[in-house]
Amino acid sequence: MEKASIYGLTKEELIAWFIEHDERKFRATQVWEWLYIKRVMAFSEMTNLSKDVISLLEENFIINPLRQVIIQEAKDGTVKYLFELPDKNMIETVLMRQEYGMSVCVTTQVGCNIGCTFCASGLLTKQRDLTAGEIVAQIMLVQHYFDERGQDERVSHIVVMGIGEPFDNYDNLMNFLHTINDPKGLAIGARHITVSTSGLVPKIREFANNGLQVNLAISLHAPNNDVRTSIMRINRSFPIEKLMDAVDEYLEKTNRRITFEYIMLSNVNDRPEHAQQLADLLKDKKKLTFVNLIPYNPVSEHDQYSRSEKADVLKFYDVLKKNGVNCVIRKEYGTDIDAACGQLRSKQIKKASKTR
Ligand code: SAH
Ligand code: SF4
Repeated sequence: MEKASIYGLTKEELIAWFIEHDERKFRATQVWEWLYIKRVMAFSEMTNLSKDVISLLEENFIINPLRQVIIQEAKDGTVKYLFELPDKNMIETVLMRQEYGMSVCVTTQVGCNIGCTFCASGLLTKQRDLTAGEIVAQIMLVQHYFDERGQDERVSHIVVMGIGEPFDNYDNLMNFLHTINDPKGLAIGARHITVSTSGLVPKIREFANNGLQVNLAISLHAPNNDVRTSIMRINRSFPIEKLMDAVDEYLEKTNRRITFEYIMLSNVNDRPEHAQQLADLLKDKKKLTFVNLIPYNPVSEHDQYSRSEKADVLKFYDVLKKNGVNCVIRKEYGTDIDAACGQLRSKQIKKASKTR
């Protein structure tokens, strides 16, 4: 059987594992430091551990489960990584340099079953969930990329917006969040982490009770059920009324702001009346909500969609602003590389199937 990545264990699980193997609890603290503070990539480099403990770890775990296949660096500093998993599936991770720090966008599943009609990831049905270790490893590899160059730069922000629906892989997502948030490890602040969901209502309710201060983003993309169902089939199971009920519960419980993502698709959801409907939808929660207007990244298989005209985006923005809705037009990253989620991977898969 394939050995699991040790990145998949939370601190508590690592402590429990050492106790189970008749070792002292502080071994877990030592290993945790080697993994997340000194960030070594081999158990043999953990020099304050005895040879026996190193062998025990080597017999049971690997550290890094990912193989780097491609790195693309854009002019604006965005870096896109294509990684191969032990079962040869491919995933993508993107690093974006922002004014406030370095933000990494992670993948949570191989493909996605939600099947939104505008998304490259949705074209590839889900092969499997990523393990918590495979999600943590994406951040570790990006951090190693800087460590190896002797650059004193730290991954400071995380967005869970790569391939997959994170709430469809909930337990592994939660383990991942606890690991990267650990103050004696990577210590990425919960307020610097954002999880994006297409709107799995029961999980939004569960997430409201998770005890972490992690931000939530919801892919809304339409202000009424007709338009939303036509582009996101998940709206059939969880229509806007149900989604908004869960949003209200989340806001009440956490008092934390929710971001609504809204891709601007020309003549589909970008008319001024759509903006007005969106403002009406949010009118009783303006203080705790935020709308992110996102330029559509064209996906060649979805040629029924095109990016909204700039004038239409500005008009939409104006209607929202006039109604007192907090909103921004999102800046794009890495447009000279395949930085939209799923694009590099789907291109690579197509290339591979052509050469087969
Ligand atoms: N499955 C989750 C998180 C991954 S998708 C979700 O849907 O929220 C992350 C974001 O990228 C979502 O808001 C999604 O709608 C958006 N997205 C997908 N395809 C896109 C495209 N071609 N152009 C721009 N944004 C896209
Ligand atoms: Fe899946 Fe999100 Fe893409 Fe929809 S937008 S298909 S939920 S990854």
